[in-house]
Amino acid sequence: MASEKIGIYPGTFDPITNGHSDIIGRAARLLDKLVVGVAINPGKGPIFTIDERVELVREEINYLKNGLADRIEVRPFTGLLIDFAHEVDATVLIRGLRAVSDFDYEFQMASMNAKMAPDVETVCLMASDKYHFIASSLVKEIAKLGGDVTQFVSPRISERLAERLYG
Ligand code: ADP
Repeated sequence: MASEKIGIYPGTFDPITNGHSDIIGRAARLLDKLVVGVAINPGKGPIFTIDERVELVREEINYLKNGLADRIEVRPFTGLLIDFAHEVDATVLIRGLRAVSDFDYEFQMASMNAKMAPDVETVCLMASDKYHFIASSLVKEIAKLGGDVTQFVSPRISERLAERLYG
């Protein structure tokens, strides 16, 4: 449908956290379709492969309530974000804002993307108070040091992290 409002939510998702899942659910409610773009991003040295990260995001989406999962698609991508947005006919680019520290980077990215693709609007959703402190990088750090991450990620992800790090 040409009038469908399509958004993309890009990230590395290494791994997907409760904070990401919250943004995905809230963004999907605002749109007809949400494409979660999993960045291949080898530069970030992810601990899960691109196929694993896509599979883990898909699994988490199946647990979203109110039929939201039907509106969400998960795809790997590489290259320029705005090219990916155009490829999937997205006019909205969703980002999550956790703290003032995220703002500078997100503002700069949004401004540069707006120059390159004025047809794609960046929409930042404020992190929920329950999840604003969660970052994939810290979750990995805690898991590597043997800490309990079950408050920050789903039981499925926590298990996969343990398998990857100690399996
Ligand atoms: P990136 O490589 O783009 O930083 P991430 O997977 O770390 O990828 O994050 C993807 C998006 O999700 C970013 O917009 C980030 O700010 C947002 N995000 C990450 N963690 C949270 C959280 N706990 N609450 C809300 N948004 C978050």
